Amino acid sequence: MSGIEKVMVFGAGISGKGAAMELADQGKTVFLYDDMPKDLEPELTEMLARNGGGFFSGNIEEILQQVQQIILSPAVPYNLSVLQKARENGIEVIAEIESAWRNYSGHMVAITGTNGKTTTTTLVGEMLKTLPVKTAVGGNIGLALSREVKGLDENSWVAAEVSSYQLEGIKDFRPDVAAILNLTPDHMERHKTMEEYARCKRNIFANQTAKQITILNYDDPEVRTWGKYSKGTLCYFSRKAVLPEGVYMKDGSFFINWKNAVKEICHKDELRIFGAHNEENVLAAIACGFFAGVTPEKMRETLLGFKGVEHRIEYVTTIHGVPYYNDSKATNTDSVIKALEAFPSGHIILLAGGHDKMTPLGPMMYLIREKTDLLILLGEAKERFYQAAMAAGVENIMVVDTFKDAVDAAYAHAKTPQVVLLSPACSSFDMFHDMGERGRYFKKLVMDLKKNTD
Ligand code: ADP
Repeated sequence: MSGIEKVMVFGAGISGKGAAMELADQGKTVFLYDDMPKDLEPELTEMLARNGGGFFSGNIEEILQQVQQIILSPAVPYNLSVLQKARENGIEVIAEIESAWRNYSGHMVAITGTNGKTTTTTLVGEMLKTLPVKTAVGGNIGLALSREVKGLDENSWVAAEVSSYQLEGIKDFRPDVAAILNLTPDHMERHKTMEEYARCKRNIFANQTAKQITILNYDDPEVRTWGKYSKGTLCYFSRKAVLPEGVYMKDGSFFINWKNAVKEICHKDELRIFGAHNEENVLAAIACGFFAGVTPEKMRETLLGFKGVEHRIEYVTTIHGVPYYNDSKATNTDSVIKALEAFPSGHIILLAGGHDKMTPLGPMMYLIREKTDLLILLGEAKERFYQAAMAAGVENIMVVDTFKDAVDAAYAHAKTPQVVLLSPACSSFDMFHDMGERGRYFKKLVMDLKKNTD
C-alpha cells in the first residue's frame, strides 16, 4: 500500500466500514462511499474526518478524481462500468480482503465454497485457538477481515471465510491454506455463468506455490478436477473414498493420512452436528487445522465440543414430540437438499420460499417429494415453487401468506415421528432484513407456540 495516500472505500457495509476504519487509522485519507445515505458510528466519522476524508453518497465521479485506490465491499460488483473507467485511469481496484491481506504479516487459512463456509470457518477458528499464538476469524462471516487482522504478528493464524464476490477482486492474496468445499449454482444474478462463478472461487489459490496448501473436496465432481489449476500442494478430502493420502472417513471415523502418518481424529457419532454435509465440513476443517499445525488431540477436543452455528439446521425445541429446526441460512437449493438428507427417516414438514434466486428447482423438488409429508410455501417465490413442486409430483402442498401462517400450519399438522424444518431455498429480503432476522423470528414463533402448550 505504500505510496497510496487517498483511498475510496466503495460500500459502507461491515467490510467497507472495517476497511475504512483501518486505513484511516494508518493515516490515509479515506472517502467512504455508498449509493445510499448511512448513519455511521461517531468513532468512524471522526476517524475519517481526521485525515480529510469522510462519508459520501451521490457524486462518485468527484471522489474518483482524487483517489489512487478503490477498495470494494463484497456487495459491489468488480465490473461496474464506473470501476472499469477508474481502472483505465490508473486507479487500482481491489477487494476488501486483498486490502486486509496486504496489511497482515501472519498466516491464513481461507475457506470458500457455495455452502458450508461459515460452519467450516468457525470450526477452523476454534481449532486455531488451541495454538500458542494469536488467532482470529474474519471475512464473509460478518467480521471485516481488515479489522480482525489488526495488531496480529507474523506468527498469528487467521481463519478467513471468503466468498466468490470477495475473490473477484484479489491480486496478491495468498493464504497458506486454501480450502474449496463445493460448487453448486448460486449467485447467478452477479456472476452470470457457472464458469465465471467457478473462476472467482479458484482465485483463492491463484497465487499459491508448492509452499502453500490447496484443499479440495474429492466428492464434488467439479471441485475435484481443480487440482490442475493450482500450483499449491494438493490435499483432498472425501467422506466416500478412503484416499491414499488426505483426509477421509472410514467406518464412520475421520482420518488424516499425510506422508504415510495415519491419525484417527474422532467418530461421527461423537459429534454434536449431524448430516453428510457437516461431515464434509468436518473433513475440510481437519485438513485446514492439520496444515495450520493443530494437533490431532486438539482437533478432536474442538470437534467434540462444537455445537454448530446459529441458523444452520439449528435445533429449536420439541413440541408434542415433534422437533423444530431453524435452517434459515439455507438460501439455495443445494443447502436444502443437504438439510433434507440430514434427516434419513424423512417425515419432514418443510417451510420454504422467500426471495426467489431463480435457480433450477427440479432436483430439490424430487427430494422434497421423497422426504416430506407436507410442503408449506410462502414469500415471493411461492408461485414458482408451487409449479415446480406440482411438476415433480409433490403431493401435499400448502401455500400461505405470512410467516406466522406457515409456522401455525406446520404446528397444526405436526405429529410424531415428523420434524418441522425451516429451510427456505431463498434469500430473505422479501420479508426480512436478512436471514438472521428470519431465523430469529421463526424461533420466536416456535417458542411462543411451545409456551402456549406448556
Ligand atoms: P455458507 O457460509 O457457505 O453460506 P453455512 O455454513 O452458513 O455456509 O451453511 C449455509 C447453509 O448450507 C445451511 O443451511 C447449512 O445447513 C448448509 N450447509 C452447511 N454445510 C454445507 C455443505 N458442506 N454442503 C451443503 N450445504 C451445507
